[in-house]
Amino acid sequence: MDRIKSVGVIGAGMAGLACAGALQAAGIPVALFEKSRGVGGRMATRRTESGSAFDHGAQYFTVRDLRFRQQVEQWCLAGTAALWLGRIIRLEQGVISELNEPIDRYVGLPAMNSIAKSLASKLNVNLNCTIQSIHSFDDGWGLTDSNQVLHGPFGRLVLAIPPQQAIQLTQANLGATQALICDIELAPCWAVMVQFEQRFDVPYDAAFVHQAPFTWVARNSSKPGRDTSDCWVLHASPEWTKEHLEQPADQVAGQLLDEFWHVTGQSPQPVAALAAHRWRFAIPRKPLQQRSIFDPKQRLGLCGDWCGGPRIEGAFLSGIAMAEAILNSPS
Ligand SMILES: Cc1cc2nc3c(=O)[nH]c(=O)nc-3n(C[C@H](O)[C@H](O)[C@H](O)COP(=O)(O)OP(=O)(O)OC[C@H]3O[C@@H](n4cnc5c(N)ncnc54)[C@H](O)[C@@H]3O)c2cc1C
Repeated sequence: MDRIKSVGVIGAGMAGLACAGALQAAGIPVALFEKSRGVGGRMATRRTESGSAFDHGAQYFTVRDLRFRQQVEQWCLAGTAALWLGRIIRLEQGVISELNEPIDRYVGLPAMNSIAKSLASKLNVNLNCTIQSIHSFDDGWGLTDSNQVLHGPFGRLVLAIPPQQAIQLTQANLGATQALICDIELAPCWAVMVQFEQRFDVPYDAAFVHQAPFTWVARNSSKPGRDTSDCWVLHASPEWTKEHLEQPADQVAGQLLDEFWHVTGQSPQPVAALAAHRWRFAIPRKPLQQRSIFDPKQRLGLCGDWCGGPRIEGAFLSGIAMAEAILNSPS
């Protein structure tokens, strides 16, 4: 591998994958490092023991930018993404109202993480590889993983991870960049996955909930390509999540299910599977007003949805901007 031109990317969420894909397309050798056993990060899908799949992180994505639109069109043509035509409403104190904005919502096909899997299929991704420390040498960056295996050196390094984790990894040695990013908070979110034995009979497929403790509930199985068992994902508000952050997952799942009956006005129904997942870093509150950060002196870049846009689209555009900054920097 060319020691100067090669790039190491930590994090195989949408930002890291988009960045790596764009660099590879420009002829740069790239290696990705991902601590989880699969790619996609917060664009995740979880399977329960019963075999049902839930998109328990990002629920769908919208398209505003032309470049992202072109990419989404390709995913749709390839059968990796599709429009979600479920009935999505607003729910407040038991009152249902229609949403005013007509907006196209897309999902991965057959699951939210399918898009990440398809992007990763052409890339060199090291899974189950938590990078524990990074070291700057004259000829680039070396990485040490949690098994004390060394990787690199890489001529450039990209941290496509949330800012708090980036600060930890660099041992707070980010210079001016640190001041820029240290106040960017990612709000947490408890997500509950519930599979009903029979169809949960409400006249909608998803709701933006304006009533504590939820912000969002959705019939996962109303998305295209999903299996037919009636699976729901419930997202707690950042406030409720913060209050219950360290509570055991099974307690949280039970509590939020009780609240679900209340919020939807339904009586309790038999449940086939129930689980909860804690997202400690879910949604950036006030993203940075620039798409990526690259320090040519340090040969170090940062990107993610916390740069420029707190969504999948924002993460994609941030990754692309990161790749462009590297390609345009002096070698
Ligand atoms: C509950 C929830 C609901 C959401 N709903 C929506 C929605 O409906 N629509 C929408 O557009 N967006 C939504 N989002 C936001 C969306 O998921 C994110 O904007 C996007 O996925 C972020 O991508 P990313 O690449 O920036 O970060 P991430 O997806 O967080 O990727 C970072 C990756 O880095 C890895 N990593 C971290 N540290 C290390 C390390 N030391 N070594 C190796 N790997 C490491 C992580 O495992 C992770 O895979 C939601 C997010 C959550 C959590």
